[in-house]
Amino acid sequence: MMVFLLMRLVSPLLRHAIYPALHHSGWLRRLDLPGGFAVVSYHGLLTADHSSPDLFLDGNLLRPEAFRKQLRFMKSRYRVIHPEEFRDSILSGKGLPPRAVLLTCDDGLLNTLTDMLPILRSEGVGCLFFVTAASCSENPGMLWYEELYHLMRNQPLERHLHPAPEESNDAAAAGDIHAAWWSVLMDASRLDAKRRGEWLNRVRAQRPAVKLDSEKRWRLLHVSELKQLSDAGMTIGAHSKSHPVLSQCSDDELREEICGSKSKLEKALGREIWAFAYPFGNPATVGDREVRAATEAGFNCALLNVEHWYASPPTLLTQPRIHVSLRTTLPELAAHLSGLHARLQHAAGR
Ligand SMILES: [Zn+2]
Repeated sequence: MMVFLLMRLVSPLLRHAIYPALHHSGWLRRLDLPGGFAVVSYHGLLTADHSSPDLFLDGNLLRPEAFRKQLRFMKSRYRVIHPEEFRDSILSGKGLPPRAVLLTCDDGLLNTLTDMLPILRSEGVGCLFFVTAASCSENPGMLWYEELYHLMRNQPLERHLHPAPEESNDAAAAGDIHAAWWSVLMDASRLDAKRRGEWLNRVRAQRPAVKLDSEKRWRLLHVSELKQLSDAGMTIGAHSKSHPVLSQCSDDELREEICGSKSKLEKALGREIWAFAYPFGNPATVGDREVRAATEAGFNCALLNVEHWYASPPTLLTQPRIHVSLRTTLPELAAHLSGLHARLQHAAGR
């Protein structure tokens, strides 16, 4: 407990003083990557036409210049490997080159094609893009839980609009918008995708239409755009059918979300989908049952969105990732890649 408190106290110090000093002194680059390689996760870029970023929803996106800077940094200090090189290493059992880093990006927002791909190509690196089965259609819309946030932002959901009115948690609904949104998101994840769509339609009908400033920010890739990403040499992985909190799904729905996304994407792209990223990807949303389902679906690897997994050591089906956000500075990224951050967290018992 004392160590935990100490870690909370020293975090700003690490971020603003210690990591920058270690980064600039070159000390971090001397550390070996824990496990021999690292996987980094992105969620897309902030586009110039997105005029009013909301840090709560947009905090996972990067400014293009920061993304390019990070790529150049990783190219200079590490070996950025192509996703297919990663898979070859899994299948052959041969190790990866020293200091290998794999780039990944979740959700399949349109800006991954329009803004991220040109930067990846000009820097000559590949990326593993995890998309939902919505991107197998011509009209994928936006992520349902992002739309839900917009629908709830100005007015909490009345009890009758809650996905499970009899179980709705008034305490959460009366609290701050972020807690209320997460509570509704968890309950809505218990509905199968069809019933969740019908429920969302009922909410839409009771609210002013959501006006979005930037299609590139909000809309998911449709199938021909997904093919463009694949044809450009990027690897596509599965991110479930409809991005629910998997731990809330029934056993049947869980299988459908995982296996269904694999088969739908394989059919749309005509190639094997060998990697999976758990939606939300943290210990609150993924447990042993979800890991078993990803294993049974036949994926070569399945990736979390956190650096720490409760059952250590992690396996290829619980592969940790370094989650990069809008706030992540270059020294912080260096501290995460070097494994120093994870070692300190581990020492603090987190
Ligand atoms: Zn996601």
